Order: sequence, then C-alpha cells, then structure tokens
Amino acid sequence: MKIVTKNHPVTKDLDDFVIHDETYNYFEVIPGIQPLLTTEHSESGKIIGWTNSYSNSKIVFIQLGHDHNAFENQNYRTIVRQAIKWVSEK
Ligand SMILES: [Zn+2]
Repeated sequence: MKIVTKNHPVTKDLDDFVIHDETYNYFEVIPGIQPLLTTEHSESGKIIGWTNSYSNSKIVFIQLGHDHNAFENQNYRTIVRQAIKWVSEK
C-alpha cells in the first residue's frame, strides 16, 4: 500500500506498508475524491482508499479488510481507528 496523502488525519503517522488481502478491480472511483491509499497490484484497482464528503458528512472508503490477514495488520487497524475518529469529529 502506498500512502499518497500523508497529511490527513486518517493516514497520519503511517508509512507505506505490505498487506495480504483480497483484490478488487474494474470499479469506478469518481473524480473529486481525495485519494489516501493506492496499490500497483496487477489484479487490483489503483485507488483503494479515499475520502469524500456528502452534504455535511465525511466519508472514508477503505477497500481493505477481507479477513484476519487484514484485521491482524497494525497499519490496517490504525487506518480504521483513525477513520472512525475523523468521521466522528464535528
Ligand atoms: Zn472479501
């Protein structure tokens, strides 16, 4: 995983990392989102973590998280924790 936006509350204190997870491909990522995570895996779409907003709501999308391989990954856990915290703040 490449952290492409490092100065965001969801990705702060994280460096690029390796994770074993399920891949998805051929999905659309609309223009205007802020990319957070990308991968160069040949069987995966490129942007697999992003933020956006809808009305007054913050949105975080994280493609990762298929099974225990993700749940046991400290980087994944940090992203999920920081995403929940960020969307919960006013
Ligand atoms: Zn899955």
